[in-house]
Amino acid sequence: MREQASVDRLIGLMARLPGLGPRSARRAVLAMVRRRETLLEPLAAALADVTATVRECARCGNIATAEFCEICADPARATGELCVVETVADLWAMERGGAFGGRYHVLGGVLSALDGVTPEALRIPELAARVQGEAVREVILALNATIDGQTTAHYIADALEPLGVTVTSLAKGVPIGGELDYLDDGTIGAALLARRAL
Ligand SMILES: [Zn+2]
Repeated sequence: MREQASVDRLIGLMARLPGLGPRSARRAVLAMVRRRETLLEPLAAALADVTATVRECARCGNIATAEFCEICADPARATGELCVVETVADLWAMERGGAFGGRYHVLGGVLSALDGVTPEALRIPELAARVQGEAVREVILALNATIDGQTTAHYIADALEPLGVTVTSLAKGVPIGGELDYLDDGTIGAALLARRAL
């Protein structure tokens, strides 16, 4: 029964991962156990490697294998532009876009009265310190277009106002390849407000 308990424990842990419920966790674990050499052992080694080497960047909150992440360690990224994102996943999404050459600041969430997330729980005091310490000219808020995301954006804009830094946010509107007829009313309204001269 001891073997079964260890497998159950693994399933229970896997089921806590985003996108996996108990059912898919069970399927994943059984697949791993069946493929010991090609899946289970390399996965265990990869987990141990990540556990031993990966940590949080001391400056921006990105994933790093040293004190600072690759982006913070790259002097070419010290452009005076700082992009604020909610999560590391959002940072990576911005990087995939390939259009931003500056540095990032990962909040680790958004303000939420419902969930009791306060400014102190996010990395907002650290953001203000960076704006002053790194000669930042522009803070670009790339927060999600949710109510909590926008509340957080306004809070940050107010908090940074005394520092005299330009605060901008990503445009909201028609996605590339999008058709107007398929967009929701809120998106069309935001796109109209964010219109610009051709
Ligand atoms: Zn970093």
